[in-house]
Amino acid sequence: MFANYINGEWVDSPSTFENRNPANTSEVVGLFAKGSAADIDAAAAAAAAAFPAWSAMPGPARGAILYKAADILDKTFDSVAAEMTREEGKTLPEAKGEVRRAINILRYFAGEGSRLPGMLVPSERDRVHMFALRKPIGVVGLITPWNFPSAIPAWKLAPALVCGNTVVLKPASAAPLSAWRIVEALHQAGIPKGVVNFVAGSGSELGAALVNAAPLKAISFTGSCEIGAWLHAHASRRHLRIQLEMGGKNPTIVLADAEFNSAVENVVNAAFFSTGQKCTATSRAIVEDAIFDRFVEAVVARTRKLKVGDGMTPGIEIGPCVDQAQMETVLRYIEIGRQECGEPLCGGHRLTEGALANGYFVEPTVFAPVTSEQTIAREEIFGPVLAIMRARDFEDAMSIANAIPFGLSSSIQTTNLSRAFEYIYRAEAGLLTVNLPSAGVEYQLPFGGSKDSSFGPKEQGPAAMEFYSDYKTVYLKY
Ligand code: NAP
Repeated sequence: MFANYINGEWVDSPSTFENRNPANTSEVVGLFAKGSAADIDAAAAAAAAAFPAWSAMPGPARGAILYKAADILDKTFDSVAAEMTREEGKTLPEAKGEVRRAINILRYFAGEGSRLPGMLVPSERDRVHMFALRKPIGVVGLITPWNFPSAIPAWKLAPALVCGNTVVLKPASAAPLSAWRIVEALHQAGIPKGVVNFVAGSGSELGAALVNAAPLKAISFTGSCEIGAWLHAHASRRHLRIQLEMGGKNPTIVLADAEFNSAVENVVNAAFFSTGQKCTATSRAIVEDAIFDRFVEAVVARTRKLKVGDGMTPGIEIGPCVDQAQMETVLRYIEIGRQECGEPLCGGHRLTEGALANGYFVEPTVFAPVTSEQTIAREEIFGPVLAIMRARDFEDAMSIANAIPFGLSSSIQTTNLSRAFEYIYRAEAGLLTVNLPSAGVEYQLPFGGSKDSSFGPKEQGPAAMEFYSDYKTVYLKY
């Protein structure tokens, strides 16, 4: 059994839950201790007790523990990646890419321990030395989703810890093992007891306990808009600092002057890789009229060639949906698409033939033409479903792209530099790509959306330090 980690101890629980392989549901990947509200309270109390010593430790010493944890994960890289494929369903190359990224994130923020930049400015007054020190906030709650089960816990844990905070991590129930491995690595790296705590179990029960835990000072959440809104309402009553990264309905604009083949490849990659379960996935391709028919035909032809199956099998490009509920959501939206836009041009069904019989596989599905008021152009599906929309010209494409409440990522495919810059200044999203897929970000720059997709300071890069620390401003007369 994979136990919870509270106050430096592995803690079992009388009840458990299973983590099953979505590519083959007869395989149990892990049996997890099902944490309770009492476990969250114990974890928050342990984090509060550990805070004074951890926050007083020099930043480079905290960073050294993160470096060591990264080295431990590096040694177990292959098995940790294979576990991720088995618990989440993404292909093994994708899982390896994500574990590599989690290791890089740990190392990047480990280095921040030696910087933790404050401010030093000249005073207007004679013989006054004035500066601002960076200080941690206290006990931070981290709630993470299943779609990047290693990278997202890493990009919350690492800056939180290096800034001197102590944490309680609640991973997604569909894929807790990848996060558990990071906590295991931190434990083996010698992190002092109580600094990191891990409690898996029901989101609604543990989420309510976490947001109400007396020692908590801040919450960082990644997941759906619905849960984000609920957390925000409860956290703001207590004046908790909060950071929310939520859903998207990301557009890729394809202009007639785009490099055609790479635009097709970028849209197919962003729409279907990781089974469309990336928050930055493209779910709306907005294509200029002049190339619309040719583009749709090329995307459909490329989509039909995608190989769907168990992500552990070499050559497979698209794995299963993460669980039955997610697969049913996808199939429900495909039915809505059928009713509103007609039969999809490819895909549209669950796959159950042969080796796929025990998994949650859905064919990559393309609908076209889709219009702005249709449901599959407005609501997040979070699966392998692409809506292709027709735009008269660049202006029309911009207004279609911006006309929804979400604003996570957005992309344009064009060879016209002026159009690219116009797009960069006018696109309503937090993450933009030009001539690349809308998904596939690195950790060295701020990450996060705008509009209803996000709330609070950005994650990753130097910006992450803003959420996990505060300033103490000092005026000193000498
Ligand atoms: P979710 O259902 O909102 O769950 C996210 C996390 O919240 C899980 O750990 C879940 O626990 C927990 N949770 C559930 N109910 C809760 C409650 N009442 N209080 C507190 N926590 C609660 O989202 P998901 O299905 O895991 O992830 C998919 C969503 O995440 C999509 O909307 C996607 O766009 C979004 N996402 C956004 C980003 C971004 O950076 N913007 C990145 C990745 C994913 P359980 O698993 O136990 O239910």
